[in-house]
Amino acid sequence: MVGQAALSGVRATAEVLSRRDLSEFTFVLRTARGDLALLPGQCFSVGLNGLGLNREYSIYSGAGDAYLDFLIRRVPDGAVSTALAEVSVGDEVSVNGPFGSFVLDERAVSAGVPHVFIASGTGIAPFASFARSYPSLDYVLYHGVRFEVEQYDRDAYPPGRYIPCISQGTAPQRRRRVTDALRQAPLPDGARYYLCGNRAMIVDVTRALRERGIAGSSIFMETFF
Ligand SMILES: Cc1cc2nc3c(=O)[nH]c(=O)nc-3n(C[C@H](O)[C@H](O)[C@H](O)COP(=O)(O)OP(=O)(O)OC[C@H]3O[C@@H](n4cnc5c(N)ncnc54)[C@H](O)[C@@H]3O)c2cc1C
Repeated sequence: MVGQAALSGVRATAEVLSRRDLSEFTFVLRTARGDLALLPGQCFSVGLNGLGLNREYSIYSGAGDAYLDFLIRRVPDGAVSTALAEVSVGDEVSVNGPFGSFVLDERAVSAGVPHVFIASGTGIAPFASFARSYPSLDYVLYHGVRFEVEQYDRDAYPPGRYIPCISQGTAPQRRRRVTDALRQAPLPDGARYYLCGNRAMIVDVTRALRERGIAGSSIFMETFF
C-alpha cells in the first residue's frame, strides 16, 4: 500500500531526466523526484522556470518510482505544453505539488473492490499511476482515443485490463467511443467508477453509467479541460 498520510504541497524546481515521445503530439517528461511524497492520481503544477505560467499535469509514474513522469499532449498554440515539449535533459523545470484528491480509497483496493477506469486521451495518466502503484488492484481501463497511436504504453497493462476504444481507427467496423463500449460492457457488482479526461467525455459517460443504474456516489471524476 502507498499510505494515505496527509500531504502538503511543496514548491520546487526539478531536473529533467528524460523525454520520451509516444506519438507526434504526446510525450512523457521525466523529472527528478527527490524525497517528495505523493499519492497516485494527484497532480503537479508544472512549467518552465521563469515563464511565470504553469499548468496542472497528473502523475503518470508510480508512487514507488524514484522519478516523476508526466504524460503531456502538446496542444497546438498551447502556452505551457508547447514550451515543455522543447525542454532538454538537464534543464530545470518548475514542479509544484502534489495537489488534488483524485485518489483511490486504499481500503477498497485492499478489499478487492473492482474498479472501472474510463479515460480519454492523456486522461489515462492517473490510471497508469494507479496500476503501477497498486499491484493487486482489480481494475479494467477503458481508453478513448481517436487513433491507434494514442494507445499510450498499452503493453504496460496485464492482458484483459486495457480496453481501447478507438473512434477514428483504421478498421472502420471496429470504431467505437467509450460511451458505446460502456452501454454494453458487463459492469462488475459493487464497482467504483473513475473518469478522467475532457469534459464532454465525462458528461456522456456519467449519463451512460447513470442510465445503467450506477449510483452517483460510486462515480469519481477529474476534468482536464
Ligand atoms: C487536474 C488536471 C490535470 C491535468 N493533467 C494533464 C495531463 O496529465 N496531461 C495533459 O496533457 N494535460 C493535462 N491537463 C491539462 C493541462 O493542465 C493544460 O490545460 C494543457 O496542457 C494545455 O495547456 P497549454 O498552456 O499548453 O494550453 P493553453 O494555452 O492553456 O490552451 C488551452 C487549450 O488547450 C486545450 N487542451 C487542454 N488540455 C488538452 C489536452 N490534454 N488535449 C487536447 N487539448 C487540450 C483546451 O481545450 C484549450 O483549448 C490537466 C488539467 C487539469 C485541470
